This record gives sequence, C-alpha cells and structure tokens, in this order.
Amino acid sequence: MDYSEILVRYGELSTKGKNRKQFIDRLAQDIRDVLSDLTAVKISGTRDHAHVYLHGTDYHIVAERLSKVFGIQSFSPSIRVAADLTELKSAVLQLFEEIYHPGMTFKINAHRANHSFELDSLELNQTLGDLVFDNFDYAKVLMKGADILLRVEVRSEAIYLNYETIKGAGGLPVGTSGRGHLMLSGGIDSPVAGFLALKRGVEIEAVHFASPPYTSPGALQKAKDLTRKLTVFGGNIQFIEVPFTEIQEEIRDKAPQTYLMTLTRRFMLRIADKIRELRDGKVIINGESLGQVASQTLGSMSVINEVTCTPIIRPVVTMDKLEIIEIAEKIDTFNLSILPFEDCCTIFAPPNPKTNPKLEVAEHYESRLDVEGLVERAVAGIKIEMISGGTSDTINEFEDLL
Ligand code: ATP
Ligand code: MG
Repeated sequence: MDYSEILVRYGELSTKGKNRKQFIDRLAQDIRDVLSDLTAVKISGTRDHAHVYLHGTDYHIVAERLSKVFGIQSFSPSIRVAADLTELKSAVLQLFEEIYHPGMTFKINAHRANHSFELDSLELNQTLGDLVFDNFDYAKVLMKGADILLRVEVRSEAIYLNYETIKGAGGLPVGTSGRGHLMLSGGIDSPVAGFLALKRGVEIEAVHFASPPYTSPGALQKAKDLTRKLTVFGGNIQFIEVPFTEIQEEIRDKAPQTYLMTLTRRFMLRIADKIRELRDGKVIINGESLGQVASQTLGSMSVINEVTCTPIIRPVVTMDKLEIIEIAEKIDTFNLSILPFEDCCTIFAPPNPKTNPKLEVAEHYESRLDVEGLVERAVAGIKIEMISGGTSDTINEFEDLL
C-alpha cells in the first residue's frame, strides 16, 4: 500500500514550555528547507506533531532527508483512508495481508480525534481486532510489545493508518539555540564538532583560515566541501574565509619556533572572536580534543584561550580519536577529511612545539607584533560564501549514531 503522508513526532522540544511555539516553527522551517526542491510535498505543524503530505512524492527520498533533521524524535509513514468504516476495514485487511505473518502478534491502537465518527476509540479497537481474528487463523494479540502495532487515527478529513516508527535524529532544531562560529579546518575533528553543535540546535557559520600561496586552492575547496556535508543537517551555512598569510609570515619572522603554534592559535581565536562579534554569534566552536597534539594539552589550551572571554564549545574535547572517526564516517566527512591537503597550522610547524607554553612568554613575543593591526586587516579581508546543497551517502549507518 502506498504512503500518503508522514507523521512527524517532536523530540525534546515538547518539554520546552513557553518556547514551544518558537521550536515548532523552527522545526517546520528546517523540514521545509530540506524538502524545498520536492514541490509537491506540503507540511503542516500542530502542537503535538507535524504532517508531511507526500502528494505522490517518493516516500524513501523524503524519509532519508527527514532522518537527518534535528528536533525530530521519530516519524511514521501513514496510509490515508477515507473517513468511512467500510473503507477503513478493507484498508486494514489489505494492509494486514501484506505485513502480518504467522507467528506474529498484533495490537490495534485507535484514536478518534473526530468525534462525529460513528465508532469511538474503544469500539474501533474492538471492531478492527475482530476483523483481524476473523481473517487470520494465527491472529494473536499482545498488549505490550506486539510485532505489529497498528495505529488508527480518525481525523475529520480522513483516517490515517501507521504501523512503523522510524527513529529521527533527535537533538534540537537547528537555530533554536542561537548562532555560533565554528573554526573549521580541513581535518577530521572540526566537522564532527560542527555536527555535534548543530545537533544541539546551534546554527553555525564556518570560519576557515587560509594562507595562500602556502596553502593551496585545493585545501580551501576541501574546507568548503566539508561545510557542504554539514548542510544536510541544518540547511545553508555561511563559509567565511580568513586571509591568514600575513600573520603567519610575521610570526615566523619575529617569534621563536617553539612558540609559533601557540601564537598562531591565539591569533586564530582573536579573529574568530571578532568575526563572531560582528556577525552576532554567541559562542565559538572548535575541534580541539584533549591530548591529541601539542596545542591541545590543558596548559596549551588555556594559554590560547586567554585571548577571549567568549565561551568556547569543544564538542569532541573528551573523545578518543577513534570515537571521533566513527562519527566522521557516519556523517560522511571522513573520506574528505583525510585527503592530503596542507593546513595553515602545519605549514611552518616546528618539530618541537611547546606543550606547556607560558602566558607571559607568549605575550612577550606578541609585543613584537602589531597584534591589533594584523587582526583588523585579516577581518577586513574575509570572504563570505553561502554553502548549500549537501548530500550524504551514509543514511543507514547514521541511524545507529543517535
Ligand atoms: P582538525 O581535525 O579539526 O583539524 P586537529 O586535531 O587537526 O583538528 P588542530 O590542527 O590542532 O587539531 O586544530 C585544532 C582546532 O583548531 C581545529 O579543530 C579547528 O577548530 C581549529 N583550526 C585549526 N586549523 C584551522 C583552520 N585552518 N581554519 C579554521 N580553524 C582551524
Ligand atoms: Mg587540523
């Protein structure tokens, strides 16, 4: 039987009290965004759930996209039947012939929202249950944990049947937690950090530092491609390219090698923070993971962090590399991330960066540089591009992540 609509259940947003309307509106908008090219599809949202009407559109295409929208707890494809008892019975029979096999248990769970319908919920359960018993000699009811739980929803315009529940992406609708700026390199960790921030409702803009000619157009393209991968979860993302060459050359020329990495990171953070402020972000998000490399010891992270009081969200900070990679594979960024392009952080990287830099020493070396001017020029030179239209090949694996 063909599905005519998808019933969408909200996730955690049900608990958000007075913000509920804002959450629901945002989720409806996020759903509209990911389905916008499927012009026959129509969406309506109520307090308790949303309906996606397919009007002939392939169910699988819509389901695949819905499964990545944050804020959806689960969804069920539904069959529409005219609000008429005879039609309802024949549809239930036809459906059970397709899905109900020997050895299986069943349960009918009817709900009459339209009170003018001739049978109430209990009578519907009884009547449809009898129908199954009369037609299948192996029929067996189980009140809890039945193999087939058929939900029958009687509404004024029609009756809807559904029996499958597909797990949604969970999380919060993107945008409901405000905006943050993701420091996005071409590595494995920062796209995963971005995904996890999106999952908790943060709308992200990607900030990428490029140092041409030391970094190549390919490295820049890779960062944009990674950003595009993230758009499947939360719609379009602004990609902000920061010209970083002048700063890197200055540091290379005026500071000792051992502090190069610390100073580079401090500049990145200052600039990301400035951009955040100009573009109305509340937090910075990065892909730092404790202990992974020299810049990511607690000592190092705190000296870098000294340049700002803005909250920094580090979604992967306590994860092992293998855990991060597992997520990267599931969100389909891993294969892009491992393409061998240089990152601006590594171009002048010394063999022995300080794992335990001192704040006073870092500040001392910075006093040789025109910090403010360098930051200002970098911010003045940013290029902004809207990234959209991501695709992902990992729908099935993605489900077990959530
Ligand atoms: P990633 O895999 O995200 O590159 P990493 O383990 O390689 O992380 P680092 O290279 O030390 O770690 O970078 C730490 C964090 O600094 C990155 O996760 C990212 O948030 C930020 N960062 C590093 N390089 C850049 C860059 N070129 N542009 C923007 N952010 C960057
Ligand atoms: Mg990196």
